[in-house]
Amino acid sequence: MSNTDFALAVEDLTVSFDGFKAIDALTLYVDKKEMRVIIGPNGAGKTTLLDLICGKTQASAGSIKFKNTELTKLAEHKRVRLGIGRKFQTPSIYENLSVFQNLEVSFPAGRSVFGALAFQCTDEVKARVQEVATDIHLADRLDTEAGLLSHGQKQWLEIGMLLMQEPELLLLDEPIAGMSARERELTAELLQRICANRAVIVIEHDMEFVKRIAHKVTVMHQGKILAEGPMEQVQADPKVIDVYLGH
Ligand code: ADP
Ligand code: MG
Repeated sequence: MSNTDFALAVEDLTVSFDGFKAIDALTLYVDKKEMRVIIGPNGAGKTTLLDLICGKTQASAGSIKFKNTELTKLAEHKRVRLGIGRKFQTPSIYENLSVFQNLEVSFPAGRSVFGALAFQCTDEVKARVQEVATDIHLADRLDTEAGLLSHGQKQWLEIGMLLMQEPELLLLDEPIAGMSARERELTAELLQRICANRAVIVIEHDMEFVKRIAHKVTVMHQGKILAEGPMEQVQADPKVIDVYLGH
């Protein structure tokens, strides 16, 4: 297969922090419309891998290809424009804006939050906000100040802000942290719907959740891939039990 058959092709990727290789010659291919879950012990390099893909951290060596474009030398905002959306562990929403406004400012037109407030809300934007709000279960909360939402709803809102830009690759770092059982359930459904037309890479610790959503699981350890495959295979792998699942 050529690299264009994948949503993302990561090859021999390495990053060193003062000589310590947080990611060490890692190779990973994600298919189009695949839901890939990355698991592994703390410090394995999972977050750093997402940082390298979205451009928050610069690679020391190796390649990351997305839509036939080499990403490693591209600035973070250019990767966003190419179609990469990244959700960090802590939701970064505008707490004192409404749900509607948070989604509106995320509509892609390169606007700042201040510019967008002055921006005349077109029917197109309104329709898109409505559509995304329905997806993230916040259609009846459009006028609520974002700071008043539950922790789980804030996580959804941030996913919604990313969906406003219709990313082709979505990177999510522990999206269900702090959620209730019901919210986890709804998030699993949401991610499955999102993945119907884009690739999604999710870092997660909750094995029930992983089992539910993953097409394939990648297990990381010390900046490398320890195992990769369907959940049942990875779960039964003695190496994986030894460094991660057995604890
Ligand atoms: P995980 O998300 O799997 O828990 P991380 O990617 O956060 O792991 O971290 C992997 C390793 O890289 C850790 O040892 C961490 O301390 C180190 N690390 C991450 N970012 C930096 C940085 N900017 N500078 C130095 N060390 C870092
Ligand atoms: Mg992490």
